[in-house]
Amino acid sequence: MELKEKAFKSVSRKNHPEDTVLDIGGVKVGGNNFTLIAGPCSVESEEQIIGIARAVKASGAHMLRGGAFKPRSSPYAFQGLKALGMDYLSEAKRVTGLPIVTEIMNINHLSLFSDVDIIQVGARNMQNFELLKELGRTDKPILLKRGLANTLQEFLMSAEYIMSEGNYRVILCERGIRTFEGVTRNTLDLSCIPIIKEATHLPIIVDPSHSTGIAKLVAPMSYASMAAGADGLIIEVHNDPENALCDGDQSILPTEFDVISKKLSGMAELFGKAT
Ligand code: PEP
Ligand code: MN
Repeated sequence: MELKEKAFKSVSRKNHPEDTVLDIGGVKVGGNNFTLIAGPCSVESEEQIIGIARAVKASGAHMLRGGAFKPRSSPYAFQGLKALGMDYLSEAKRVTGLPIVTEIMNINHLSLFSDVDIIQVGARNMQNFELLKELGRTDKPILLKRGLANTLQEFLMSAEYIMSEGNYRVILCERGIRTFEGVTRNTLDLSCIPIIKEATHLPIIVDPSHSTGIAKLVAPMSYASMAAGADGLIIEVHNDPENALCDGDQSILPTEFDVISKKLSGMAELFGKAT
């Protein structure tokens, strides 16, 4: 079944043949750039986020991720440090100079995001159309993650929702979809990368952490993502994965991130990318 491309106006490559290249605090996303976003699942303390930010920056990360508002399956699980976590992220940005990426769950929190460089819409909110429309009225770049059970058609229509309100700075993220397979947390749909690159001019990055749920799979899926044509990666890195408050099983150590980053730099030329 093919994509119904007529449904996409702003998203479509037909109406915008060149790749969209975003400049976010001096970091380029899209085109021949390969952007590395790294950091913990959740901001846990000021020391934790600054320590990880320093480490991933030294290893070549271009941006820092970290959740302050966490969508958790259980209401009793750690929900994030919220406003305090946002302050710690800002401090990590100030100390390292890395632009920051963090998830919004409620549009009423938007005023807390003024220092945020990319607002993430998590998989669970991919079809929260009212949220998408509100974000379409902001001037912030949006990282839109594919929903757990959403088709590529639906994924691109959600990007269209944001763009239809005037915000053209959208980055797509493939983060795995739910299938019958239970060994991995989700199934990484890498074949969507060339399909999406053909259909749209928007950058698309891969999240090898949530898509596999298994730390040792992050490295091979990162290399495969570059080979598939992705514009970058968003990777969960934690200083102490065993004691992480969220997603420890899929979190890699800063030393492991360093190995991945170096290998990707070595691969980049072959795949027409600059790291
Ligand atoms: C996350 O990035 O921490 C996250 C919750 O991701 P997703 O929405 O893809 O599950
Ligand atoms: Mn996570």
